[in-house]
Amino acid sequence: MSRRTLTFSEIFSKTKSLIQELWKTPPTHPWYNRQAPGGALSIKADRVVQTTISRLASGHIRGLSFNLGQKIYENCTKCNLVQATPDHLLFCAGLEREDIYSSPLLVYDFLRTLGLMDLV
Ligand SMILES: [Zn+2]
Repeated sequence: MSRRTLTFSEIFSKTKSLIQELWKTPPTHPWYNRQAPGGALSIKADRVVQTTISRLASGHIRGLSFNLGQKIYENCTKCNLVQATPDHLLFCAGLEREDIYSSPLLVYDFLRTLGLMDLV
């Protein structure tokens, strides 16, 4: 198989099309669902739902306090066994972290139905 040397314009053209393809592909990580770093998630719902889901996603929930630099969460009111971290709240509700981004209204309804809203 013979190989010929690419010209500068061919290399430039291939590189340009590769870069354009990379730029046009939207990022898949859920961080990019936000409009600004640390900002609220863009959810088509009322403000209470947006705030609740954003707090859950960021980990800054109502049941969080700091003591000597350590994060301390209130105990889970559903199982009363462990601290109610955001991941535990999702686990207790039978949900996964990805559900925050894929179906935020479902997460909100589960938390409200299970009486976990005081912690979030
Ligand atoms: Zn629990």
